Amino acid sequence: MAGAEVSLAGWAHEIRDLGGICFLILRDREGFAQVTLAAKRVDKSLTETVRHLSRETIVLVKGDVKAEQKAPRGYEIIPTEITVLSKAESPLPMDPTGKVGADLDTRLDSRFVDLRRPSALAAFRIESAVMRSLRDFFYENGFIEVCTPKIVATATEGGTALFPISYFDKEAFLNQSPQLYKQILMSAGLDRVFEIGAIFRAEEHDTRRHLNEAVSIDVEVSFADHHEVMRLLEEAVARAYRYVSQSCTNDLEVLEIELEVPKTPFRRVTYTQALEMANEDRDAEIEWGDDLDTEAEKTIGKTMGEHYFITEWPTEIKPYYTQPEEERPEISKGFDLMHPKMELASGAQRVHDYDLLVKRIRDQGMDPDGFEFYLRSFMYGMPPHAGWGLGLGRLVLTMLDLENIRDAVLFPRDRRRLVP
Ligand code: ATP
Ligand code: MG
Repeated sequence: MAGAEVSLAGWAHEIRDLGGICFLILRDREGFAQVTLAAKRVDKSLTETVRHLSRETIVLVKGDVKAEQKAPRGYEIIPTEITVLSKAESPLPMDPTGKVGADLDTRLDSRFVDLRRPSALAAFRIESAVMRSLRDFFYENGFIEVCTPKIVATATEGGTALFPISYFDKEAFLNQSPQLYKQILMSAGLDRVFEIGAIFRAEEHDTRRHLNEAVSIDVEVSFADHHEVMRLLEEAVARAYRYVSQSCTNDLEVLEIELEVPKTPFRRVTYTQALEMANEDRDAEIEWGDDLDTEAEKTIGKTMGEHYFITEWPTEIKPYYTQPEEERPEISKGFDLMHPKMELASGAQRVHDYDLLVKRIRDQGMDPDGFEFYLRSFMYGMPPHAGWGLGLGRLVLTMLDLENIRDAVLFPRDRRRLVP
């Protein structure tokens, strides 16, 4: 565009006044542009305006593009007109250049400034690319995108980890998972559905990988078993990595990441094998039938070193809607997708037989009456089906090797944080 006349608006990232020449570095979502005000070439009033700009003020610059090797990306703008669109107060709540570090709470309190840091923004541009690649992948594979309700009358899995809300004169909750509705849609004949939506968990977590509101990428597939949806899941994850590595080169550079696309198929280890790995070097051994704790996940992750599946979980510790194996019902058709650092997804072939489902709900100490709206869909033709839920925040967190899931969520919700 050398020689072209342009209008460029952005944030005044930096003002460098060298006396005879003054530089204004403008920033927007895509990067930086240099506006050069040499005393000889530019109207004095423009230089005066720039000298008095506070950092982060939003300005509109009209001017001519000139090739200049020393400028960022090889071009500068010689201004003919500068308009202040919105003045920024000073001091700023935090440093948007990232030179002066700020702790997580300060950054989250002033998220609108924090996101002006190119490295903070990069993670969210990549997150957008991840969602886009997954949507493409699902549509290519015959899926329908659905939106299930987030205000519900009953828990998905019993338990108490629900946020109650007042709903006129009734009690209602924020949904912890689209599980039951995805399954009802299988009975309806939607065949293959996906949803990217919020899930709410009322647990008092205090970890780097849990929030009270998260985004889950959920799928459900009719006439499929757990093996089929595990293949779908590993391909989805590999697809997201591949797309990001091809289309987000600038953002990866800003984050100083060389993204390696995980190779498929991922390794499958059974729960029993995983337990052996976990118990190898451990004081209090985990017994068969107990859930794997964080320490166990870490030990196994170290041994595995890449994405892997844990299969053949004990039926007892998987939710009631998980299909037991026909030949040995103490083993289920549930699975977890693991990154060496944490769980990314859980899935299973589901129970599709009405009587078995009622029994499983009872076995887990719950009352089938509370699930009538769900159970009815199993009485009039329910195909065999399988599916999974993958945490978007955790996918991005592990992909970019971020410290904390809060760096992969724009406005995180945790026990202590409800604003902004
Ligand atoms: P964990 O055992 O790590 O607490 P979970 O087994 O309770 O997770 P699932 O119910 O299996 O979680 O949910 C499916 C996926 O959704 C998880 O694998 C995870 O990626 C994501 N997810 C679930 N709960 C949270 C949460 N509180 N914060 C962030 N992501 C979550
Ligand atoms: Mg899980």
